[in-house]
Amino acid sequence: MNQATHLTGLDAAELSALVESFGEPAYRGRQLFGALFKRRLRSFEEMSDLPKNFRAALAERATASTLTVESRYISEDGTRRYLLKTHDGLPVETVFIPEERRDTICFSSQSGCPLQCSFCLTAKLGLLRTLTAGEIVEQIVIALNDAYGTGTKTPRGTNLVAMGAGEPFLAFDSLMKALRIMADPNGLHIVPNRVTVSTAGIVPRILELARVPDRPHLAISLAAPTDEQRDVLMPINRKWPLAELLAACKEFEVSLKPGERFTFEYVMLDGVNDSDEHARQLANLLNRHQLRAKVNLIPHNPADPLPYLPTPLAQVERFKGILEAKGVHAYVRRPRGRDIYAACGQLAARRPVNNLNPQILHQLTG
Ligand code: SAH
Repeated sequence: MNQATHLTGLDAAELSALVESFGEPAYRGRQLFGALFKRRLRSFEEMSDLPKNFRAALAERATASTLTVESRYISEDGTRRYLLKTHDGLPVETVFIPEERRDTICFSSQSGCPLQCSFCLTAKLGLLRTLTAGEIVEQIVIALNDAYGTGTKTPRGTNLVAMGAGEPFLAFDSLMKALRIMADPNGLHIVPNRVTVSTAGIVPRILELARVPDRPHLAISLAAPTDEQRDVLMPINRKWPLAELLAACKEFEVSLKPGERFTFEYVMLDGVNDSDEHARQLANLLNRHQLRAKVNLIPHNPADPLPYLPTPLAQVERFKGILEAKGVHAYVRRPRGRDIYAACGQLAARRPVNNLNPQILHQLTG
């Protein structure tokens, strides 16, 4: 199977070329594209409108699915977390977050992560492997099928965030190809405008993204207002310190549409980066660069081996107030799925927390 072409990693033109190489007419390629991405079928057996001999030929050289669902957890708030496994046995995690107007799927770009952010559990795994475009797309297919059933239209549309395991800007080619495949109106039809990519601050890729015509939204994980502290919390800062990062943001701004802002994420660690003074330093830093940005404050999601506690909500609100008083747009992000370890920075926990109500824990074995 390792050598088989993974079909969810092919765009419409590549799929047509593959089908034609089998001696099939071009419209079969369009049919196959619809089966994979509009109906989200994950096996050739289900594609009963395709001729048997064509399906047999496909099965010999290609595969529609390479990820297996190891387990699924459902949170009290409806968030669903999937532990998936690649064909070579590596862990991948995907989170489905139901929301009133539109659901959000948080996907992984790498198995594990090479960046050593001190507050993130995925960092403990190290980098196992960067995912392929097909593996990125398949995560979305799996989550949508589980939420809405195979073959159905998604009732409310879907937002995507590249905020699962991994650093998406170190998976740039896979990511951009996956976005192109998912945007196709004959398939999933999730356009880049519905996608937010979060980076720890890979400067050259921020500049590259700015030049992509139909690009996703950008979020940057900041976590500290000074180099001294960011060097410790996010060691990638030693390679691209704040001055370089914010200069890249300034260049990125040129690509913003009227009224659009990009996002800084600021994880709030109790007694570490959450004082009034930190808030003033952060506001001054952003104001000094006059950035068209907003700040999302994310209370730390604790996970056993991580040495931090979440900032109490009253201080989060106070921090937000200080930013706002200095003209910085700030929002507090509500944690979702903490009880099943699905929240930011909790992925890679082997199992959910012990005190989980067994009635809300549905475990599917893959
Ligand atoms: N590597 C990318 C995307 C993954 S992290 C990045 O760094 O942006 C997605 C977000 O979760 C980041 O903003 C990160 O700062 C935040 N995060 C990581 N660990 C966290 C934790 N334990 N609690 C709360 N947020 C966390």
